[in-house]
Amino acid sequence: MVLKSEEEIIKYSMTEEDPNSNAQIVIAEEVSKPRWGPQHAGAQELASQYTKGKRIQETICIGVSTTLIAHNFIMLCWNFHLDKWYFVIASALLGILSADFMSGLVHWTADSWGSVELPIIGKAFIRPFREHHIDPTSITRHDFIETNGDNFSVTIPFMAYSAYKFLTYSPEQIQEVYNFECYLFLLTIFVSVTNQCHKWSHTYFGLPRWITLLQDLHIVLPRKHHRIHHVAPHETYFCITTGWLNLPLEKIRFWSTFEYLIEAVTGCKPRSDDLNWAKKRS
Ligand SMILES: [Zn+2]
Ligand SMILES: [Zn+2]
Repeated sequence: MVLKSEEEIIKYSMTEEDPNSNAQIVIAEEVSKPRWGPQHAGAQELASQYTKGKRIQETICIGVSTTLIAHNFIMLCWNFHLDKWYFVIASALLGILSADFMSGLVHWTADSWGSVELPIIGKAFIRPFREHHIDPTSITRHDFIETNGDNFSVTIPFMAYSAYKFLTYSPEQIQEVYNFECYLFLLTIFVSVTNQCHKWSHTYFGLPRWITLLQDLHIVLPRKHHRIHHVAPHETYFCITTGWLNLPLEKIRFWSTFEYLIEAVTGCKPRSDDLNWAKKRS
């Protein structure tokens, strides 16, 4: 099981509470090892690959997604019956757990496999994950659109299908699918806010008190908890919505078992592309 000691965390990850290393002593031999931060050559190259076209796509997707979410929320309220209150609570819990698991699955896939050189998905999907490891604080400089664009985009087909059902089904048919729609809606909400929770977990300065309270209560991803993922070689704690599933998945060796099987079948080493970017010097 890969649990990290305080010493490992300090040695193999970037001290985000001290991003300019003012309080750190840099030993000469460490200068040649992969380091982190906005000045890193790989981080600068990856950041420069965020294109105008990608930004336009993200802006449109956030607009479409929030319109569909608002529409479906009104329809869920309109069709709500008081005797269904416990389904809403159960759906919320299941939605959080599903979103946390999906965040881990997507994050693990993008971190561990593939490369930025792959056509289409390389630059659009894998690039931000590589950038995030070598410059974890870059996410704190991304605005709302760059932070949340991808997550809002993936919810569109599901919310569009729900909207279609609400608009075409009879009231009786809507009641039949109501519980599932409730779950899907709350899952969508948590998937949409996942990267925002992730951004907050990297924000060490100026967070409003209500957010740090949610982090302290572990309702959203806490900073100290997510720091464990950022210890090189980034092989654990992939869930980034609440992080509730990180310890249980680690205990059953969930990710390492899949990595072992994939490597045995394909011969691909997990996170080799990630390591190459970390070593990039110019
Ligand atoms: Zn990662
Ligand atoms: Zn992170």
